[in-house]
Amino acid sequence: MKKLFVKTYGCQMNAYDSAKMADLLAPLGYAATDAPDGADMLILNFCHIRETATEKVYSELGRLKSLKAEKARDGGRMLLAVAGCVAQAEGEEIVARQPAVDLVVGPQSYHRLPEMIARAARQQGHALETDFPALEKFDSLPEPSATGVSAFLTVQEGCDKFCTFCVVPYTRGSEQSRPPQAILREARQLAGKGARELVLLGQNVNAYNGPSSDNKRWSLARLCDALAGIEGIARIRYTTSHPRDMADDLIAAHGENPKLMPYLHLPVQSGSDAVLEAMNRQHTSDDYRRLVERIRSRRPDIALTSDFIVGFPGESDADFQATLQLVRDIGYATAFSFKYSKRPGTPASTMRKQVPEELKAARLDELQKLLLAQQYAFDDSQIGKTVAVLFEKPARRDAQLMGRTPYLQPVHVQAGPEMIGRLAQVRIERRTANSLHGTLAGKGVLA
Ligand code: SAM
Ligand code: SF4
Repeated sequence: MKKLFVKTYGCQMNAYDSAKMADLLAPLGYAATDAPDGADMLILNFCHIRETATEKVYSELGRLKSLKAEKARDGGRMLLAVAGCVAQAEGEEIVARQPAVDLVVGPQSYHRLPEMIARAARQQGHALETDFPALEKFDSLPEPSATGVSAFLTVQEGCDKFCTFCVVPYTRGSEQSRPPQAILREARQLAGKGARELVLLGQNVNAYNGPSSDNKRWSLARLCDALAGIEGIARIRYTTSHPRDMADDLIAAHGENPKLMPYLHLPVQSGSDAVLEAMNRQHTSDDYRRLVERIRSRRPDIALTSDFIVGFPGESDADFQATLQLVRDIGYATAFSFKYSKRPGTPASTMRKQVPEELKAARLDELQKLLLAQQYAFDDSQIGKTVAVLFEKPARRDAQLMGRTPYLQPVHVQAGPEMIGRLAQVRIERRTANSLHGTLAGKGVLA
């Protein structure tokens, strides 16, 4: 067996793509290893969303180059590949900055890895694939070899929204939905291998508009209905959603499909209408408030999460205060927040009135304090309640398992390994910094 080391940095879709790359290389004799030393192939599957992510790939390559040289001294060969959005965006620049790289493969082209490896093995120099063949890759991917209790499943890729700060439309291409039949097939394979929860992935997942074999288009709500019928699947989640694509049938599904979890990641980025407009988000902060009201009218207990960017060019103190106000008005279960990062080629990168780094840092700190207080308040509101927990894996402490509530909160519970993959009623007793703790309650196992 040859050793394959894949390092992933980025969103859930990168994690999904890394697993697919490992499955694709298994028939060539590559088995995954968890250390880069002595590996026959190293893949860095990295994101490009913020500048720090891009710089990370170059510093990693600098480090891994010496492992490659070491292997060569011992008479072996290590192939070094860069994949993901960073490969798409940087392309030949990667090989120019780090000639030790053998392969550069974009997120729509990694199904071509086997032929690229063959080319590199024939010593024909570097192999570079960054085409955009619309979703062709999914037809070439093997069945998932293994899965956890919670499994990612890509249903949609790319984005046509062109928010002025974001590289995704340039690195992942235009919006494409996979056919529902292909998704259902993959979901059944995952369920057959032990998945109990499906996390449907897409850069704009709620824009899903899948071309069905009967020439009809399926919405995300319809897809979730069909997935709910698969034996073994107990929970369905989806991420990431755009506020403009929250269709009525999807909002209704949160009240009607019992397998659709009461959890929604609905990024708003800013609470200021001026900033939202400059970001090209195509909605106002009040549109967002009204949308949340409609969602909560169907599913009052839904846990909402969001992404925020502070220090977008031109963001004034009043704009930032509007973001804090929106956060107070909505009340989030948890959220991600970032300092605006200039991305080459995006319209915002050349906007005047860039915000100084110290001001961005101060605003981020203030926002994160508010969001953390809301997260703790939400977690505390679960204490004393009995909730359904799906157990995923052993926890770090002996005889404990880690599971998740319907609201995606991690919970630690004293339970035996036979409970992994099962749903059980758990009474929540306390919270620590990063998780809840509870005990198996009453009737115990649910399914
Ligand atoms: N499609 C999702 C949406 O519409 O909100 C977001 C996808 S993006 C991969 C994840 C998050 O990264 C965004 O929601 C945004 O908050 C953040 N992000 C994207 N570009 C950024 C930039 N240039 N600087 C800072 N954060 C950024
Ligand atoms: Fe990027 Fe999301 Fe905007 Fe698309 S909708 S451009 S992925 S932030």
